[in-house]
Amino acid sequence: MIKLPENFIERMRERLGKDFPAFLASYDLPPVKGLRVNTLKISAEEFFRRAPFPLGEQFCDDPACVYVGEEKPGADPYHFAGLYYVQEPSAMKVGDFTNACKKERVLDLCAAPGGKTTHIAAQMGGEGVLIANEIDPVRAKALSQNVERMGIANCAVTNASPESLAALFPGYFDLVLVDAPCSGEGMFKKEPNAIPEWSLENVARCAARQREILDRAAEMTAGGGRLFYSTCTFAEEEDEWQIEEFLKRHPDFSLVERKKLYPHTFRGEGHFCALLQRAEGGTLRTRPFPVRHSAQAEKAFRAFEGDFFESPPTGEIHTLPDGRMYRVPAGMPDLAGVRLLRLGAELGEWDGKRFKPAHAFAMAYGASAKRQIRLTREGAKKYLLGEVLPCDGQEGWCVVCVEEFPLGLGKCTGGIVKNHLPKGLRMYAGR
Ligand code: SAM
Repeated sequence: MIKLPENFIERMRERLGKDFPAFLASYDLPPVKGLRVNTLKISAEEFFRRAPFPLGEQFCDDPACVYVGEEKPGADPYHFAGLYYVQEPSAMKVGDFTNACKKERVLDLCAAPGGKTTHIAAQMGGEGVLIANEIDPVRAKALSQNVERMGIANCAVTNASPESLAALFPGYFDLVLVDAPCSGEGMFKKEPNAIPEWSLENVARCAARQREILDRAAEMTAGGGRLFYSTCTFAEEEDEWQIEEFLKRHPDFSLVERKKLYPHTFRGEGHFCALLQRAEGGTLRTRPFPVRHSAQAEKAFRAFEGDFFESPPTGEIHTLPDGRMYRVPAGMPDLAGVRLLRLGAELGEWDGKRFKPAHAFAMAYGASAKRQIRLTREGAKKYLLGEVLPCDGQEGWCVVCVEEFPLGLGKCTGGIVKNHLPKGLRMYAGR
C-alpha cells in the first residue's frame, strides 16, 4: 500500500468516523479508469458497438461515460481520431451538474489539460461560445492539442490569469467553471508524487488561491448564470468551507447542489463538486471579436474549400498578419490583449501565394470532406507512425481517416499519399 502522510490519515479518520476503514481500504485497489465518448464525433451507442477493447458500465447521467479496464486506450487509432477522452471517472461528474446548453457563453477558467472543457464542448454540441483558459503556458499547449484532437470548432484557448479575464468580461458568461488547483488528496493513488507535496500549509495555500480564483469567477458570471466549482481533494478548507465562505462574501449567489465523492462511496478517485447560481441582473459586455479580413487569403481558402466540401461550413474568417487563418465561432467576444493559442478551428495558412490546410482543419471539418482516404485500423496505425501510403485517388490534399473518422491530412501525388500528420502527434512504435 502507498504511504500516506500521517496528518492526512488523522484528518480523514476524524472526518469519516466509522467509514474511515473503508476509505483507507480503497488505497489497496488499483486506480480506476474511465473514458468519455466524444459525441461531437460519434454517438455513444455507435462507439460501444465498435469499441476495440472491453468497456465497463456507465457511471454518470451521461451515457457516454464508462469504465475501462487495463487496456491502453490512449494508444488506439480511435483515440488519435478524438473519438474519446480518457479520464478519471469522478472528474466526469461535472456533466451531471453543468448541462451546458447550445448557444451559451461558457468559460472554463482552469482548463488544462482539457477533461472538463472537452466534456462541456460535447454538451454544447458545437454551438455557443466556449473559452478554455489555462494560466500555465506549457499546460495551455496540451489543452489546445486536446481541443484540436476532439474537433471542437467553437472554442478559443487562452493563456491568461483570472484577473486579466475578469477585467475584460464582467458579468458576461452564462456558465463559469473553476476546476481549481488543489492539494490533490484524490490523486495520491494515480500520481504518488503528489504525496510528498501534501502538507497542512499547502492546503491553506491552495484554499487562499482558490478564494482568489472564485472571486474573479464570480465577477465574470452573468446575472442568472451558473458557477461550477470542483476540486480533486477532500480537505474541507478547499471544499465545503470554501463554498460556505464564498456564499458569505457573495450574497447574490446561492447554492444549487453540492456533492463529495469518496473512493469508498464511488468507483473513482474522489472529487468535490458544487453548483452555484447568481441572482438575475448584473452587467453584460458584448463587444464582438474584431475579425481581420484578407481578401486574397479568403479567396484562396474558398477555392480550396469548394473543392473539399459539398456545402462548406459557414462563418467569418480571421487572418493573422503571419497568414494563419481561423473560422471565428459565431458570437465570439473581443479577447483584446489576451494571449490566444486557438480561436475556434485553425483552417490553415496563406503564404501570399497558396493556401495550406492545417491539421486542426482536418480534425474539425474532415468528417464531411469529399476528399477522404479511408483506412482500416491497421492501415491507420501506419499513417499514425508517419509512413507514406499508396494512393489511387485524385492528386492533391485529402483527409486521411481511420474508417470514416479523420486522423489528419495527406497529399496525394504520383500514386502515394505524403504524410502530413504533425511529427509531434505521431504514434511511436511500442507506445
Ligand atoms: N479542468 C482540468 C481538466 O479537467 O482537465 C484540470 C484543471 S487542474 C485541476 C487546475 C488547473 O489550474 C491547472 O492546470 C493549473 O495550472 C491551473 N492554475 C494554477 N494556478 C492557477 C491560478 N492562480 N489561477 C488559475 N488557474 C490556475
